[in-house]
Amino acid sequence: MTELTDLSKPQAAPDHPMVRAEGVHKSYGQVEVLKGIDLEVRPSEVFCLVGPSGSGKSTFLRCINHLEKINAGRLYVDGELVGYRQKGDRLYELKDREVALKRQDIGMVFQRFNLFPHMTALENIVEAPLRVKKENRAEARERATALLERVGLADKAGSYPSQLSGGQQQRVAIARALAMRPKLMLFDEPTSALDPELVGEVLDVMRGLAEDGMTMIVVTHEMGFAREVGDALVFMDGGVVVESGHPREVLGDPKHERTRAFLSKVL
Ligand code: ADP
Ligand code: MG
Repeated sequence: MTELTDLSKPQAAPDHPMVRAEGVHKSYGQVEVLKGIDLEVRPSEVFCLVGPSGSGKSTFLRCINHLEKINAGRLYVDGELVGYRQKGDRLYELKDREVALKRQDIGMVFQRFNLFPHMTALENIVEAPLRVKKENRAEARERATALLERVGLADKAGSYPSQLSGGQQQRVAIARALAMRPKLMLFDEPTSALDPELVGEVLDVMRGLAEDGMTMIVVTHEMGFAREVGDALVFMDGGVVVESGHPREVLGDPKHERTRAFLSKVL
């Protein structure tokens, strides 16, 4: 077990934000990508993360999802420090197996849908519940069928990814993430790779999820979605949070020049 020394004063877990970042820093070699991110995502919130390319949005999502280790600060998911386990007044780095368990609670949807090409839509969805969670096959299939219905693809259970449009593939990818019953969903530009006419069907599925109370962090350039569905919006640039607030407030009356410059390009 690796004992951690640079986080020598673990504090009591905060009272239940779904995600809490305190001074999160992340560097790749000499390059500092996240320069002290502070934010809080409440349960059932749709939290929109916007900013120019290279500002560190994907890196931040990867830190939340245990794909990167932060260099300084504290990052909590559901009250627990990401990557560490607390025992008494000490912190220990999680083992790979423990990390894998934590990651099961977090669904992630990428710009590229990353479906398994040799599996049907239904097989893509049951794969992790069967292999990772050892769920009962009949129940997993039943649930996958219900999830396909939920994303409007009840008739595509037997279709392979190559037979589906980009929007349909992305909806299967969302259903696949939901099959693991996540408590938090991360969306990294889920509609950026889609033809414009297919964006709406994916945003509609996300809107439905939001209405059902899913906690979602959404990196997006779809400001209409952010304004209508978002509960909070953070504008990031150069690895820092420049501005945050209710989406209508930030989008309607940006306070910072950098926010205004960015919005003038995407709105
Ligand atoms: P965004 O998602 O906002 O476009 P990213 O988080 O992808 O930004 O990247 C932020 C910066 O970090 C970029 O300058 C990128 O080149 C750099 N970066 C991202 N991942 C790595 C990596 N694995 N190694 C080195 N640099 C990286
Ligand atoms: Mg990105």
